[in-house]
Amino acid sequence: MSIPLVDLKWQHQQIKEDVEKGFEEVINAGAFILGPPVHQFENDFAEFCGAKHCVSVGNGTDALEIAMRALSIGQQDDEVILPANTFVASALAVMRCGAKPVLVDCDDNHLIDIEHCEKKIGQNTKAIMAVDLFGQMPQMGKLEEIASSAGIVLVEDAAQAQGASHRGKQAGSCGSIAGTSFYPGKNLGAYGDAGAITTDDDQLADKARRLRNYGSEVKYHHPEVGFNSRLDTLQAVVLGAKLKHLTMWNKMRREAANRYFDLLREVQGIELPESSSENEHVWHIYAVRVQHREAVLTALHKAGVGAGIHYPIPIHLLGAFEFLGHKRGDFPRAEGAASEMISLPMFPGISEAQQVAVSEALVTAVKNN
Ligand SMILES: *Cc1c(COP(=O)(O)O)cnc(C)c1O
Repeated sequence: MSIPLVDLKWQHQQIKEDVEKGFEEVINAGAFILGPPVHQFENDFAEFCGAKHCVSVGNGTDALEIAMRALSIGQQDDEVILPANTFVASALAVMRCGAKPVLVDCDDNHLIDIEHCEKKIGQNTKAIMAVDLFGQMPQMGKLEEIASSAGIVLVEDAAQAQGASHRGKQAGSCGSIAGTSFYPGKNLGAYGDAGAITTDDDQLADKARRLRNYGSEVKYHHPEVGFNSRLDTLQAVVLGAKLKHLTMWNKMRREAANRYFDLLREVQGIELPESSSENEHVWHIYAVRVQHREAVLTALHKAGVGAGIHYPIPIHLLGAFEFLGHKRGDFPRAEGAASEMISLPMFPGISEAQQVAVSEALVTAVKNN
């Protein structure tokens, strides 16, 4: 038996007819760029997130960059604080908007260490970027308080958490502005690259809307330098169709996470992920921690289990961020996570038999290594 890390075909089966019908309408209308389904999806996604505005863009990295540019972050010496254990795109977006990433360690839940974060706020700090890692949001209320008392802004990287909430606040509705990704494997995934910005702030939304469209509001008038980063209408059709199922699909992920917990909780040598009771976790990634990770991973692959690693190298040890001058040992919790984590297959539609097979393979691999 071979079990993938993510199975997207199952999702397609659920939305096939909506997608075919929607594609045909777009093609017949020739409305490929910013057509009606884009506006429809923006309205639906804003409502889903509990945000006033949604500005869809070409991918998640652009969403974060444009969000920060809308905030005018990126003047000389500007700094943005973010966790060392995140996908590289969070840090790339900070760089690309012209600011310097200032990294902090994570806590025991692998979320941004709030105390560490507070200590790093300095004169040049413009924002904290809080990442909803693996489908779980950090303590946004606290982060919002810290940011506002320091006179800086909170930016939410909600790429891994569509549908998650923390104390009743939805992912994408925290801080001044949020960026999210609809990369195919995300909880809400397109059939290619896609992303979005969400915010309650009218001015930030207007500015982001201009920036994504060549810096223009009125055709051929370009008061500022913008991007070409829009959500394709065809992708909006896919996302709109999937959004209708997302709450159910996230529930299925939660059930799958509970099943892994039941299957693995008594096994020695496997540390299971935890979720705080204040969080509605949407399990974008189900990552366990083990010793001898490389050997365990190889054994899982041999057994046909498509396990992965998110992420093997923390930001401060990546070549691209060498210039920050960090060394191994600077962020011990992020480094520990990077060397021990294994992501198990997790997707809506994963069967009990598949989860049992994954668990058995993992238990055997841990025992033998
Ligand atoms: C996927 C992801 C992004 C970037 O999204 P792209 O659409 O791939 O550009 C940013 N941050 C996090 C945490 C992500 O997981």
